[in-house]
Amino acid sequence: MAQRRKSSKKKPAAKRPQRKKLVKQKIQPLEEILFRVEGKMSTFGGPTDTGMAADEGLALFTPADLQDPKYSYLFLPTSPPGTSGLGRRLNPEKYYFACRWNYNDTPREFLRRALARVENPANRRAADARPVDWGPHISTGRVADLSPGLATALGLKTDDVVRITISALRATPVKPIKLVKPAERTAPAFQPAASTKPVIKQFIRSPNCSSRKVGTKIDKIVLHCTEGSLAGALAEFQKTDSRKVSAHYVIDRNGDIYQMVNDTDCANHCMGANAGSIGIEHVGSETDSLAPPQAAASAALIRWLLQEHQIPRANIFGHDFTPGYCRPGGTSCPDKLFGPVHSQATIATWVAANV
Ligand SMILES: [Zn+2]
Repeated sequence: MAQRRKSSKKKPAAKRPQRKKLVKQKIQPLEEILFRVEGKMSTFGGPTDTGMAADEGLALFTPADLQDPKYSYLFLPTSPPGTSGLGRRLNPEKYYFACRWNYNDTPREFLRRALARVENPANRRAADARPVDWGPHISTGRVADLSPGLATALGLKTDDVVRITISALRATPVKPIKLVKPAERTAPAFQPAASTKPVIKQFIRSPNCSSRKVGTKIDKIVLHCTEGSLAGALAEFQKTDSRKVSAHYVIDRNGDIYQMVNDTDCANHCMGANAGSIGIEHVGSETDSLAPPQAAASAALIRWLLQEHQIPRANIFGHDFTPGYCRPGGTSCPDKLFGPVHSQATIATWVAANV
């Protein structure tokens, strides 16, 4: 949003971030940290953990997940005698852990798909592990409980210090669903897996849109900051009696995605550049940065849009830096959501690290 203020200085188009192979991206220093904790640990889970009740479950999983090959490896083939809960059925040799999650920042569904880096800062050993539960209780003075196998692998004993990190780059689906059309089956083996459209919480139709002209290709994604609340943005985009603005998508700070205009139609979000663009609003104030689940949702949506419409990766712009954008005076949008400096380079850096 934001159609006000700002110097008219034109920034040069940012250099196209060098595209790297997916494997290389994982070690870029720019990765966005969505969760990090460092402190004392202990161990939990499995047949011999009598600290867990025989019927105690796990915060992030249900018995139905035992049927899912993505998760079943975390569990023993059968429940240990005398137990019925998933906690005692965990395979203590597998790498899993629990932290006291704030589900507003890291929602349950996000955690179920996340892979964390667990480190022993004392010896620098590290391993990837999955969040499975909420805990330990704050009264323990510990920040995490690890599987016995993970603790052993890292050389950690109860009350040693552990560091756990979830970055945006690792918060990808465990096993992306691959949508391969018959004609594409001969595609090179190294193509990234196809992404699916993220879940849309609600489609709230905005009247402030129009059909794209025949033959207009969708070739840009424009990123915005609402500079206000979710409710304010949804209301503004439904009004027909004021500025008649809209956006295709609005992403709340908790990662919920609302759609208001079909991709096939023009939304009124970036004067002069609406014809071939998709507009994504992110709920935030002028001083906010993206909230972690919001960043993850935005990256997932952008990945899907790039693939769905074959949009060049270099064509992801902040509102003020969009080619063709012509509102006199410019805009402060997208403010500080993607970094403290108002520049397309900031957007490009975020895209390179997250999308
Ligand atoms: Zn904007």
